[in-house]
Amino acid sequence: MRARDTPVPAPSALPADRSTDVLVVGAGLAGLPVALELARRGASVRVVDPAAPGSGTSRVAAGMLAPVTEAEPDDPAHLLVGRAGLDRWPAFAATLAAASGVDVPLHAAGTLALARDRDEAEALTRFSEVCGRFGLPVERLLPSAARRLEPALAPTLRGALSVPGDLAVDPRRVVAALVAGLPEHGVEVTAVAVERVLLEDVAGGGSRATGALLADAGVLRAGAVVLATGARPVGGLPDGARVPVRPVKGQLLVLRDPSGPGLVERVLRFGHGYLVPRDDGRYVLGATTEERGFDVATTAWALHELLRDGFELVPGLLDLEVEETLAGLRPTTPDALPVIGPAAGVDGLWWATGHHRNGVLLAPLTGVLLADALTGTPRTPADERVASLVDPRRFAVADPGGRPADGPHPPASPPSGEVLAAAPVAGVPAIAPAPPHPPVPEDARA
Ligand SMILES: Cc1cc2nc3c(=O)[nH]c(=O)nc-3n(C[C@H](O)[C@H](O)[C@H](O)COP(=O)(O)OP(=O)(O)OC[C@H]3O[C@@H](n4cnc5c(N)ncnc54)[C@H](O)[C@@H]3O)c2cc1C
Repeated sequence: MRARDTPVPAPSALPADRSTDVLVVGAGLAGLPVALELARRGASVRVVDPAAPGSGTSRVAAGMLAPVTEAEPDDPAHLLVGRAGLDRWPAFAATLAAASGVDVPLHAAGTLALARDRDEAEALTRFSEVCGRFGLPVERLLPSAARRLEPALAPTLRGALSVPGDLAVDPRRVVAALVAGLPEHGVEVTAVAVERVLLEDVAGGGSRATGALLADAGVLRAGAVVLATGARPVGGLPDGARVPVRPVKGQLLVLRDPSGPGLVERVLRFGHGYLVPRDDGRYVLGATTEERGFDVATTAWALHELLRDGFELVPGLLDLEVEETLAGLRPTTPDALPVIGPAAGVDGLWWATGHHRNGVLLAPLTGVLLADALTGTPRTPADERVASLVDPRRFAVADPGGRPADGPHPPASPPSGEVLAAAPVAGVPAIAPAPPHPPVPEDARA
């Protein structure tokens, strides 16, 4: 037992002012890949999160890597970003497994988009026509053909569309592999919350991020700060540097077949729902989309709706055991694209959030885009285009008051049209960022 007069160490047990090249705030599927990718490129990186890594929304995700069925196919920006995410997954899974020793199997059986009634069948027809126009590989199937592929489907099925290129992964395995791979690259994950970002004024106006003040009153200094806190805001930012991210609640169930895998092989999509098979006999049945602020309660109503819809298409679902009921908060921007890149008007401050329904899909892309920008690595034109679509500065607004929300810093927004230089990290000059808001041509192929 501790003697009564023994001093109790601060919760984080961190000496103040420990400095790294990069401080990543938030250990979810946005922050962890950024940390690993930067560390692999030689930066010294620290991750801080008061909770266990991956225990936020990333723990809830179903794990679909599905740019076609997640995006509206006539929305070229989402498709472009989503497919850039999917393209990186096979190499990312292999790199992760090699770096961590944790296998990250990709489920490659594809997706069946299903129709339960005439309206949904017509929607599938329109979806397949648009996919055809964009050159996306999908195939219309008769209900009988779909049931030959997936015999567990109900005889009442009205139509199906096969999307063979979609993948799926277990997000918790991805987190486990990321966490296992970090120490080898010298990345420490510290269990403490960031209270506010520390800024200092720079000559000629604007400010620069220099680290973070922690919830235990400690200070961490860093050459750059990456905010990957999902739907949660962080203090200390001037208005112009903030991004409009809101929580969009999603509920789902994890079901288990005690007799093992095999009830369903492919990811099934229907209406707003889906059933995602894992390799071990578990099935994720999701998900609701609710605007309820930071509420993460699971409700009887939501579980009832999900089970009713799932049962309509796969009656055998009702024989499964309920393993978990979960709710998470999708970090969502007004255009539902993420914010990955430099914050407006604050040198050395970077965003990696707003991934909405696609944080797993975009995990590898998020790491590469931010690591390229922070280390000044030249990008391909294709990556540059994706980077400009997710540039946080598309949301930059003028700060009419001339002051940040909670700090003594000058206005942070750039004059209209000005392109800000990204901050260098560890002495490496960063690339000049692309201008925000480039137009996406109508005929863009994703
Ligand atoms: C029901 C549901 C199903 C989904 N299915 C899919 C899917 O199939 N495919 C897909 O691609 N995406 C899916 N998503 C979306 C995906 O889960 C999210 O986009 C992704 O998990 C967001 O990751 P994140 O790291 O930004 O957030 P989080 O995982 O929430 O991580 C943020 C972390 O930041 C930490 N943090 C917060 N504030 C602070 C602070 N002040 N200081 C330090 N740390 C802090 C938190 O503790 C947390 O660990 C789904 C989401 C939901 C809700």
